[in-house]
Amino acid sequence: MIKVGICGVAGRMGQRISHLTLEAGNLDLGGGVEFAGHPAIGKDIGEVIGVSPLGVQVVDSVEAIVGDVDVVVAFTAPPEPTAVAANIAGRAGVPMVIGTTGLSAEQVEAMTHDLKAVACVFAPNFSVGVTVLTQLVEEAARILGGDYDVEIVEAHHRFKTDAPSGTAYALAQAAARGLERDLQAVGIYGRYGDTGARTHDEIGVHAVRAGDIVGEHTVVFGGIGETIELVHRAQSRDTFASGVIRAIPFAVAAEPGMYDMRDVLGLR
Ligand code: NAD
Repeated sequence: MIKVGICGVAGRMGQRISHLTLEAGNLDLGGGVEFAGHPAIGKDIGEVIGVSPLGVQVVDSVEAIVGDVDVVVAFTAPPEPTAVAANIAGRAGVPMVIGTTGLSAEQVEAMTHDLKAVACVFAPNFSVGVTVLTQLVEEAARILGGDYDVEIVEAHHRFKTDAPSGTAYALAQAAARGLERDLQAVGIYGRYGDTGARTHDEIGVHAVRAGDIVGEHTVVFGGIGETIELVHRAQSRDTFASGVIRAIPFAVAAEPGMYDMRDVLGLR
C-alpha cells in the first residue's frame, strides 16, 4: 500500500483526491495538511471528507507528515504552501504529485531545484482528456501552420483566483511549440480598447469566470474561410482526481526528475 499525504486536504481537490485514494486498492491516506487555524486542524481526515474516521488527524505542516507517507500530493490555494511543501518533501526524499496552479516562474524554478533528488509529477491539468488535447493542439498547430490564428478561451468557476488557467497556458505553450514561436514574445492575455489589428504571430488567451464551471478550454484555429475548434469540458473534479490517482504510483516508482501527465500516460 502506498501511503499518501495531501497538502490542502480540505479543499475541493484535496477532498476528491482523498475519496479516490480510499477507493483505490493500492493507496492509503497517511496524512493531511491544512493551514494553521483552519477549522479542520486536529480533526480526523475521515470526518473532514465525510467518511468513517481513519485514525489520522489533519495537521498544520508538511514537516509533521513526511515521515509517515510515501508521497505528498499538493493542491493548494494560494500556491505558496505548495512551494514550501516541495522544499520539505525534497529534503525528506519523498516524491510529490503537484497540481497547484498560479505558481510564478521563480517559484517553479525553486521547486524544481528543491525536488531534484526525488520524482515529481507536476501538471496544470491531470485530466487524461486534456493531456490528449494538449498533444492534439501541438500537432494541429504544426500541420495548420502560421496562417491560422490561435486563440484560447478558458472558463472556470467564480472562486478561481488565478488567470489564465494553468491549462490554458499549457495549451498556449503547446500551440507555440507546434508553430515554433516563443510564447513569452507572442502571448496576449485578454484585449481591451484600441488594440489595433491582430498581429500575425500572436496567440490570444482569454478567461471567463462564472458560476460553478469546473473547467472548459476551447482552442480556436482561425483560417480564411474556415475555423477549427478543439474543445474540452470537465464535468466533474474527478477527471483531475482520477489522473492524480494514476500519477501517484508513477511518482513513487520513477527515477528522480520532473514529469507531467504525458509521462504518466506513456505519451513520450
Ligand atoms: P480550494 O480553495 O478548494 O482548496 C485549496 C486548499 O488549500 C484549501 O483547503 C486551503 O485551505 C488549502 N491551503 C491554503 N493554505 C494552506 C497551507 N498553508 N497548507 C495547506 N493547505 C493550505 O482550491 P481547489 O479548487 O482544490 O484548487 C487548488 C489548486 O489546484 C488551485 O491552484 C487550482 O487551480 C488547482 N487545480 C489543479 C487541477 C489540476 O488538474 N492540476 C485541477 C483543479 C484545480
